[in-house]
Amino acid sequence: MESILVLTHADESGAALTKGSLEAVTAGAELAARLGAELTIGIVAVQPQPLSKGLPSRRVLAVKGEAFAQSRFASDAAACEALCRAAQATIVLAPESSRFARVMAAVAHRVGGAIDTHITAIGGAANVEATRWFYRQRIEAVVSREKRPWFLLLDAGTHAAFVGEAAQAQVEQIAVELPALRTEVTGTRAPKQGAQTIRPDAKVLFVAGAGWTKKQPDGQIHVEQAGELILKFLAASGASLGSSKSLVDQGGEGNSVLPFLTHLNQVGQTGSTPRHAKGLSTCCHGEEPHVVGWRFVGERRAVSLDPNCGWTRGKADVVYVADAFAVMARVNELLANAASSR
Ligand SMILES: Cc1cc2nc3c(=O)[nH]c(=O)nc-3n(C[C@H](O)[C@H](O)[C@H](O)COP(=O)(O)OP(=O)(O)OC[C@H]3O[C@@H](n4cnc5c(N)ncnc54)[C@H](O)[C@@H]3O)c2cc1C
Repeated sequence: MESILVLTHADESGAALTKGSLEAVTAGAELAARLGAELTIGIVAVQPQPLSKGLPSRRVLAVKGEAFAQSRFASDAAACEALCRAAQATIVLAPESSRFARVMAAVAHRVGGAIDTHITAIGGAANVEATRWFYRQRIEAVVSREKRPWFLLLDAGTHAAFVGEAAQAQVEQIAVELPALRTEVTGTRAPKQGAQTIRPDAKVLFVAGAGWTKKQPDGQIHVEQAGELILKFLAASGASLGSSKSLVDQGGEGNSVLPFLTHLNQVGQTGSTPRHAKGLSTCCHGEEPHVVGWRFVGERRAVSLDPNCGWTRGKADVVYVADAFAVMARVNELLANAASSR
């Protein structure tokens, strides 16, 4: 008989569990209901009691204290190990956050278990079967294992975040023996508010392709105008900015390039595979090495001047054969009108 532990951690404010943690709670509750298994939730936080509100488990374990205010290997690994030893679960689910991804393989090793990462779904009626993608999202595999405890790190955006009732569970505090702590977070350096263009939680992915920097029908390039149109759209819509490889590569060739783009924005085979409900591609040809990164984008639309581009050959739901400069100028106008009439 399986028993399930969901490991969670507080967000940077310390006042709530992260969205990824709440997604793992949903996955754990669904799995426990399907297997008729016992569900335990573990919390790593400075003050875990308020974070336990409405969690769908009779047993909530927590480690508590200032040491857990910051993400640090030594304290997080010790905390997760203590929670695992206290819960004695056979299946351990956790969000694939940078904080937990860093420590969980070590925790699995310490408790003699096995771990699989980037899990997108958990199925199986009698056994636990975990789904993940291999070879840059081209092959989907279903994995099962005999070894216990089996740790599964869940990719963000694969489950709905758990929303519970306001009741607070009684939290059982677990003692942790911390090793010597040599690392201390002294501050955070982050891009200026608004300068961050990669927004994993955005509903819409906006992809810019190399066409934005190419000669336009008037024989000229209009990179500055392209940058303004794109940034205006991102500000008004809250969309996340992706790019084709050709566009981000241009910086290295000394060509005119959009200054707010880096290789981190690149979507595709050698880039990222983000998850968004909708995607809008502009000035991009829609070649396979790029489109493979759109695997988890729900509804796909594209604006391209080329009626024979990859998008029109079955890779997008809707293709507008049009000039993206004109389309995005009009879209920005409509967004501004909508904002002013609110
Ligand atoms: C091993 C390998 C890995 C790769 N990995 C990736 C990857 O991870 N991600 C990736 O993106 N690519 C990747 N590529 C490259 C990929 O094959 C394409 O070369 C690249 O995606 C093309 O980028 P693009 O469509 O922006 O540029 P282009 O092919 O130059 O297309 C530009 C498009 O813009 C259109 N356009 C121009 N002006 C306008 C306008 N005003 N309005 C509307 N449309 C306009 C043009 O008609 C054209 O279709 C990889 C290639 C290889 C070989």
